[in-house]
Amino acid sequence: MFKYIAPSGSPINTSELLYWLVCYLLSIDKRQEIKKEIKSKYKVDNCFLFSTGRGAMTTLLSSLKQLKQDNSKYEVVIPAYTCYSVASAVINAGLKIRLCDVDPKTLSYNIEQLNDLPFDNVLCMITANLYGIPNQLNELEEIANANDIYLVDDAAQSFDASYAGRQVGTFGIAGLYSFDKGKNITSIDGGVLVTNNSQLADILENRYKLLTNVSAKHSLITALKVFIYYTFLNPFLYWLPASLPFLNLGKTRYEEKIEIQKYPAKLAPLALKQIKRSKDIMDIRVNNGLWYKLNIQENKIVTKINEFNTTKPAYLRYPLMISDPITRNTLIVNGKRYGLTVSYPKSLNMLKEIQEYIVNNNTFAGAEQISQQIITLPTQMYIKNEDRKSINNLIYNSQHS
Ligand SMILES: *Cc1c(COP(=O)(O)O)cnc(C)c1O
Repeated sequence: MFKYIAPSGSPINTSELLYWLVCYLLSIDKRQEIKKEIKSKYKVDNCFLFSTGRGAMTTLLSSLKQLKQDNSKYEVVIPAYTCYSVASAVINAGLKIRLCDVDPKTLSYNIEQLNDLPFDNVLCMITANLYGIPNQLNELEEIANANDIYLVDDAAQSFDASYAGRQVGTFGIAGLYSFDKGKNITSIDGGVLVTNNSQLADILENRYKLLTNVSAKHSLITALKVFIYYTFLNPFLYWLPASLPFLNLGKTRYEEKIEIQKYPAKLAPLALKQIKRSKDIMDIRVNNGLWYKLNIQENKIVTKINEFNTTKPAYLRYPLMISDPITRNTLIVNGKRYGLTVSYPKSLNMLKEIQEYIVNNNTFAGAEQISQQIITLPTQMYIKNEDRKSINNLIYNSQHS
């Protein structure tokens, strides 16, 4: 049979689907249990559940602005290579973007450039922790403290990863997790904020009360998506959705308007089950990631990411840099059915939709290099040893053909 592997995704298993269905039909609300679970897992005092991670991020940034009570602080420092939703959240919060370059060797901030930024108007800076690989979070926290700005720890791709024994998402004043389709664990949609700062929590609480619930129609569509996701993530069926161009699977688009709503009770049972199973889900990803790390040969064309000491990556995907464009193109075409993807196709300074909101629109050589060289390999549950080997052979052969 013809296999077609999804680039990411955390498969929903049958017992989770049945549990969800029962809760759905009986209108059982598991949101309080999710909050309890997250609070004890991450040792945080406050947890807020939103319909999306970007909605959560937007609310967090508006709340930090309110907490700071200083009108001269309206810039948010973000990495010039990260998820487009982060840029959109800054803009939706009515703030401006200050970009900082990213080091292609680590996928984290270029520390030299970060230290040289003018922080006079900066409210906060946001980490990236892309593909489940933690940034140098201790150092970023120190830089934030030294410059009297807030640090927001974006762990949307790093649920269950850690840095120096501390969970990613718990650095700085507040952290973000996402339960979107392509993330470490999923309930199709969902975003989580965590913080130990009680003043910030009060502001968030007040804003949260004013939010609406997702509409009944949206809720029904999402329920359908749960069934589709459950069914079609399987490599023997994924070719079908992957071949429907209107689904835009795996395509990254910039989304201008962010809707901010409460996390729907209807999805909570799924997230709760996946949180409880997250260690098992992560172990599989980590195993696959470590296999790539051990077996893929580095050379002039292919390089891996340098992980910081003391990190435990969650390997949502496994990133590689391919410096030769022809090799990379060959890989992208031939690797598609193995779940190999290019990730974000542009650095943020090249994204024309956000130009007018960027206060320092220069070139960002590191971020641009990443956008031109990166590929990411799949690590999810459906990857078998033979698939990893095929991917490794593909990488080898595309350089030598
Ligand atoms: C996905 C993602 C977000 C936004 O989360 P959504 O739930 O998709 O809105 C924010 N930051 C990063 C790094 C992400 O990968």
